[in-house]
Amino acid sequence: MSINENIQSVRQRIKNAAKRSGRDPEDITLVAVTKNRPVSAVEEVIKAGIRDIGENRNQELLAKYKAVDGDVNWHFIGHLQRNKVKYIIPFVYLIQSVDSTALAEEISKRAAKIEKVQDILLEVNISGEATKYGFSPKEVVPAIEELAQLKNIYIKGLMMMAPLLDNREQLRPYFAELKEMFDDLYSRHEPNFEMRYLSMGTTGDFEVAIEEGSNMVRIGTAIFRP
Ligand SMILES: *Cc1c(COP(=O)(O)O)cnc(C)c1O
Repeated sequence: MSINENIQSVRQRIKNAAKRSGRDPEDITLVAVTKNRPVSAVEEVIKAGIRDIGENRNQELLAKYKAVDGDVNWHFIGHLQRNKVKYIIPFVYLIQSVDSTALAEEISKRAAKIEKVQDILLEVNISGEATKYGFSPKEVVPAIEELAQLKNIYIKGLMMMAPLLDNREQLRPYFAELKEMFDDLYSRHEPNFEMRYLSMGTTGDFEVAIEEGSNMVRIGTAIFRP
């Protein structure tokens, strides 16, 4: 299977999962995760029609941004250190992995310097695993109340990484819990705040995530495996 064929197959699976849950497949954004893959791999996914690319390290993102030309939305999906924010702000489209108010404040500060309003998602640690980054569920509302006051970030939704469990059916309640939080926040009015993206689902679990309400999936392995 080529990268192009893998992408077609992933798209078909997204479509099927969307239909099973009565949703429009067009509403689901596929972010191709190209971490640890060469520039040529990024070029191939772009050729296959992908517009959204995810990276989890700032240096790798920067290098690929410089090397690739094309109309690409660059997503940052890894743990971002505050002192690295300034390097990616000029060109990053969506920082999905904002896991602390201090990080969000730094993003707003750096974005202000270049007169940008940076779109972000808040990463939520739904499973409560000590090894995971993210806001705990009870920290989310206070964080939004505080961060929505910052003028150079725009909170566009929520993101999660599912726990590593053998049986993907066991992940369903975690996805459902984040979807419930997303729905509860949906009608909330704050400045610079809109619940638009619910980013959950990777190669091992994206169909379950879509069935539970995800509208943005981040997929690497299924696109690049031979
Ligand atoms: C690597 C990564 C993915 C993609 O995972 P695959 O299992 O390769 O599809 C998605 N999200 C984040 C945050 C990642 O680091």
